[in-house]
Amino acid sequence: MRILVVEDEEKVASFVARSLREKTWAVDIATTGRQALEAGRNAEYDLILLDLRLPDMDGLEICRRLRQEGVETAILMLTARGMVDERVQGLDAGADDYLVKPFALAELHARIRALGRRGLGRGVVLRFGDLTLDRRRRRVERAGQPVALTQKEFALLEFLMVQAPETVARSEIVEHVWDSSFDSGSNLVEVYVNRLRQKVDHGHPVKLLHTVRGVGYRLGLES
Ligand code: CA
Repeated sequence: MRILVVEDEEKVASFVARSLREKTWAVDIATTGRQALEAGRNAEYDLILLDLRLPDMDGLEICRRLRQEGVETAILMLTARGMVDERVQGLDAGADDYLVKPFALAELHARIRALGRRGLGRGVVLRFGDLTLDRRRRRVERAGQPVALTQKEFALLEFLMVQAPETVARSEIVEHVWDSSFDSGSNLVEVYVNRLRQKVDHGHPVKLLHTVRGVGYRLGLES
């Protein structure tokens, strides 16, 4: 899942971003309303974390404009304590949920997981064949045996499982699993897919992770 953090206070932005990256999410930061609008129009984001207090533009206005332009990305807004009107206006402007500042990181993560599930569908535990991925406990098992994955491998597998059995283009993987610092000339996706394949398929007669030549990757049950 890829998240856009909109927050003008750089310390807060980088603190929040770091905590989200630790949860395996890919994160980009916008520190002005203009940047937020520009980035928010990109469909690759699965969620926008939107601070309503920005120096150059009202967060409510950003929310309204994105919705008017047909952007359907989940929006979680950050509001000030006691500002009930603001919350109501935010939800009316098209935000999906809100969190009151200051907030506990654990609550932020829980809200993001809930919104992410709504957007990406299919509940807490994803299943494909004898492979299961528990999003809440961040655990993966193949045929009942635990599979130890790094955070990035986990995020990649989660994305493939949500899309399964559709083929996922390499560019889609880059957009949803990596952030904007990704070097598009690199072969990092291939490297990660190969590592994931080693961990998920090695020693099993049925291979789940398949390469679709010239297109991308998909999960399938054929051997
Ligand atoms: Ca602010």
